[in-house]
Amino acid sequence: MAHTITTIGIVGAGQMGNGIAHVAAQNGFHATMLDVNPASLEKALATITKNMDRQVQKGSLTEAQKTEAMARLKTTTAMTDLAQCDLVIEAATENEGIKKKIFTELDAVLKPEALLASNTSSISITRLAAVTKRPDKFIGLHFMNPVPMMALVEVIKGLATTQETYERVMEVAQKMGKTMATSEDVPGFIVNRLLLPMLNEACYALQDGVADVKSIDTAMKLGAGHPMGPLTLADFIGLDTCVAIMRVLHNELGDSKYRPCPLLVKFVDAGWLGKKSGKGFYDYTDPTNPKPYR
Ligand code: NAD
Repeated sequence: MAHTITTIGIVGAGQMGNGIAHVAAQNGFHATMLDVNPASLEKALATITKNMDRQVQKGSLTEAQKTEAMARLKTTTAMTDLAQCDLVIEAATENEGIKKKIFTELDAVLKPEALLASNTSSISITRLAAVTKRPDKFIGLHFMNPVPMMALVEVIKGLATTQETYERVMEVAQKMGKTMATSEDVPGFIVNRLLLPMLNEACYALQDGVADVKSIDTAMKLGAGHPMGPLTLADFIGLDTCVAIMRVLHNELGDSKYRPCPLLVKFVDAGWLGKKSGKGFYDYTDPTNPKPYR
């Protein structure tokens, strides 16, 4: 029987990587974040500190627990510093070439029994696993954004992933306080496969003149009990990200029902990417009172 996972490496210290490192360290794991960009590592540590301070203020973490968690966190730019990790979770930029290079390098430095996971939103786990000599020990762990707040982790088995690997990472995610949903290795997994076509359909409803921005969002909030209207949520995710995910679903599943809505593509062409660019279906000039774009 393989020994317990105690040390986790996280490759890519962006918005997802820092969140994964946060929940790992908070729940007793030793966590080392690796990034090619030292500024990302500094920013990640600052973000984790700020988010843990907020937890302390709210009373969900004690000052002593915060100090212990921060002491379990390390950062590095050298792959060899991850050599002793029992599990490495990759959360680098969503680019297949970058991810394949990272996994090839990890495979060479890690001990033979170490597990590999990817947080990819859209790239095939089976294809990423195939660049390593341990596809049986490779799995998808898809955390949701923001990681410390969102309860779900999608667990994705590649074609070669063994039951033992699956059970070991399920235990890790559980220790991180998460609830898991298991998906086959298909484009979009569960959440994006269901959510993105709904957001895309809201764009079609707007394009076809079914209703205006405010009415579409109000209808789904109050009529379907969604915490956020679909156009607000699309702005929050980023309209470029929404188009990218629709393109993956469309290209890989080959069904015309996944074609990105032309109005959504037009927003991206205009550079109106949603909240992050200050304008999307809403104008965020006054962030406390977003106004529909027209
Ligand atoms: P991000 O741009 O915030 O962070 C990516 C980080 O990866 C950056 O700090 C960058 O410097 C680093 N990086 C790039 N190349 C690297 C390399 N070769 N080695 C080490 N680090 C490298 O991106 P993000 O939003 O955190 O997304 C990361 C991953 O998580 C992607 O695969 C994305 O699809 C997935 N994801 C994102 C979300 C989301 O809502 N943002 C949700 C679920 C999953």
